[in-house]
Amino acid sequence: MDGRALIPADQFVLKVHSRCDLACDHCYVYESADQSWRGRPASVPSGVVSRAALRIAEHVKTHELDRVEVVLHGGEPLLAGVAGLRAVLVELENALHGLCRLDVKIHTNGVLLNEKFCELFSQHGVGVGISLDGDRMANDRHRKYRDGRSSYDAVVRAIRLLSGDRFMHLYSGILCTIDIANDPIRVYESLLELDPPRLDLLLPHATWDAPPPRTAGSATEYADWLIAIFDRWQADGYPVRIRTFDSIIATLAGGDSATEALGLAPVRMVVIETDGSYEQADSLKVAYDGAPATGLGVFTHSLDSALEHPGIAARQHGIADLSAACQRCPVVSSCGGGMYAHRYRTGSDFDNPSVYCDDLLKLINHISSRLPHVARNRAQAGHVLSEDAVAELASGLGGAETIGQLRQGQRSLQRGLPVAVYETGLSVPAVPPSAKDLLRTAWQALALADRDGPDAVNAVLGLPYLRAWAVRCLGRLGRSDAAGGDGDRSLSADLGHLGAVAAAAAIRGRAHARLTVPLIDGSVHLPGLGRLTAGLTVSGADGETQAVLEIEADWVRVRLGADGWRLPRPRMLAGDPCPAEPCTPDGAPAVTGTARPAVWEPVRVLTAPGIRVTLEDTDPYRDCYQWPAAPRLTDEEFARWQRAFGLAWREIQEHHPAYAPALAVGLTALMPMMPAPAGADVSAAARQGFGAVATVLPDNPATLALLLIREFQRVKLGAVLDRYDLFDPADSRLEELLDGAYANLAVTEFWRVRAGLGQHDRAEAAERYQYWREHTAAAIETVAGSGALTPLGRHFVGQMRNAIAVSG
Ligand code: SF4
Repeated sequence: MDGRALIPADQFVLKVHSRCDLACDHCYVYESADQSWRGRPASVPSGVVSRAALRIAEHVKTHELDRVEVVLHGGEPLLAGVAGLRAVLVELENALHGLCRLDVKIHTNGVLLNEKFCELFSQHGVGVGISLDGDRMANDRHRKYRDGRSSYDAVVRAIRLLSGDRFMHLYSGILCTIDIANDPIRVYESLLELDPPRLDLLLPHATWDAPPPRTAGSATEYADWLIAIFDRWQADGYPVRIRTFDSIIATLAGGDSATEALGLAPVRMVVIETDGSYEQADSLKVAYDGAPATGLGVFTHSLDSALEHPGIAARQHGIADLSAACQRCPVVSSCGGGMYAHRYRTGSDFDNPSVYCDDLLKLINHISSRLPHVARNRAQAGHVLSEDAVAELASGLGGAETIGQLRQGQRSLQRGLPVAVYETGLSVPAVPPSAKDLLRTAWQALALADRDGPDAVNAVLGLPYLRAWAVRCLGRLGRSDAAGGDGDRSLSADLGHLGAVAAAAAIRGRAHARLTVPLIDGSVHLPGLGRLTAGLTVSGADGETQAVLEIEADWVRVRLGADGWRLPRPRMLAGDPCPAEPCTPDGAPAVTGTARPAVWEPVRVLTAPGIRVTLEDTDPYRDCYQWPAAPRLTDEEFARWQRAFGLAWREIQEHHPAYAPALAVGLTALMPMMPAPAGADVSAAARQGFGAVATVLPDNPATLALLLIREFQRVKLGAVLDRYDLFDPADSRLEELLDGAYANLAVTEFWRVRAGLGQHDRAEAAERYQYWREHTAAAIETVAGSGALTPLGRHFVGQMRNAIAVSG
């Protein structure tokens, strides 16, 4: 080791069978330089499995991992048989029970896959990836039985079994090895017909010593092949996740790659062979005989020892581990030097660019140049959630890291909204010139604030109801009667709110600015900070509709017609209910009694151990739900909310801890709603308000806990839908159905837990649990059978079905 901290592994490739029933001529296990498989047991012995499981558990404990993935691999892993695989799964589950989440996948050629295997995988939640190279002709170039027979029909039958209603929750995708002799579009279309939730398009393993097949004189045929599919995929509207493209899009936007073949992320994977030896990635088998070996194994060494092996340690330090040529390369953060094995050349070992260097450069540059507005937005929104994150969310949960990814994506998305309002506002003829002038001033102030204090701007642009404001503005600007009224708010007032956004950012960033902002509902609103309410009317003082804000180091002066007030900036930032002192237009204190009174109402914060949530009762764009927003709370009412919130949070932490990390990271605002008739516990969440939950204040804190958990499910799903198409948007009922089913996954879990608490309402809780379980399972089946889900949507809903099935 070089003294740097060890990066733990969280993926383990466990070889359960080292032989195969096919004889594919491009297989890197049997047809490569490394022939170590010959000396290993065909089937993994039970002693190796139990020892491997203990080593993984030991590693989990040492590094306090909250999740690991085990990939059952071969050879052909199904040759281990149903009983053999069951024994492996039980051993792993027993070893890791109570320590961390275990995700298991199996990569198979599929020819043996049948209902018995699928039932086993369903019982243990094993995702299944199948290798197939395209249509019959493409597949039969390489993937054949030893006697030359085609494997195509058997593999497609297996995929049909997986993509059917019964087992679709297991189907994790198709792995296709590229052969440039195949027509890329035919390969793409034939694979898409099989409804995969994800495609992997894999470059055939090769090195500088054994380069991939190419037409003489061509250096980029693999790029051209992939580009043909990328262009078609893009034109089709991204109907399936394609890991190579997803990874490039994500890394171009500064995110993480989803494959070890691209990007700069450290290696976090160890292979465990059927004899218990630790190995590096299988792909290294193409380099030279013995290349993946570490000389270590489960019986003698910990996984930490394997990670300290020089071969693995050499891929832990990002760009520093790459060749000099790669370090200078303009696309290095996306490419990462390509797959490690593909860099090998006798003499210089792995200190080279990839043998696919020209292809990778061309492909990455092409994708970078072809990302249109929508794709850029998706990229900015972190288009690629990690696979773990999607799986976690689909199961109805999502930890702090996953919610952090969603939040980051929403912030990126929201950052694009003010510019959309600004540009659209300037381009629409119906917008009055005076409103356009104010838009320009506000935009310039926001740009300056961003230059001098980007954190402050990010904080304001990340507020939940910024999107509700932008969507309202863009909606009005898109209508033929754009200048017409909408409620009692003019278009100029809506657009002018950009000035208030810029002012809030300037105040937070301690910048100086002079801005004109609209009076909305009789108040000057500063998003995330509070509002200044002047006089007793709600229509503005003396007919004024705008206020002028002068923001200085210590003071914020507000002028409204002939009146003026000044507010101490530090106390505004601290959320204090500070006085609004009357002042003259130049800022000097006014003679007492000559100005109308004004009240500064700061945004207040609900707190409990480990969580802080804004109580949002001033934002003029918060009223975006079906049930109306409550007016500003009195101090007594706020105190009641604070008490109930503290108790509800304690309930969540003690009895529903799986939801607590997500809420602690993602719940940023709570919006009180008007009481409902007959005391109904109304609550809501909206796509336009990421991080916010709206609710009445129920009598029982446990009910508030339930409402928070339920509505935050909707917040999560909305953010997922911002990134991925899970269903055909033409089917308008699907979003509501999916939203209800996803929210009720958590409701079911809530009552399941409560029924087991032994409290006075145990019988009622058990009854509710049964009701919601049946109701939610039925709703999931309705969504699953709608015929309108995308391949990814089928996979997502399949995981939901899995979650409700195991909640019994
Ligand atoms: S494109 Fe070539 S030089 Fe650039 S990082 Fe990739 S392999 Fe290295």
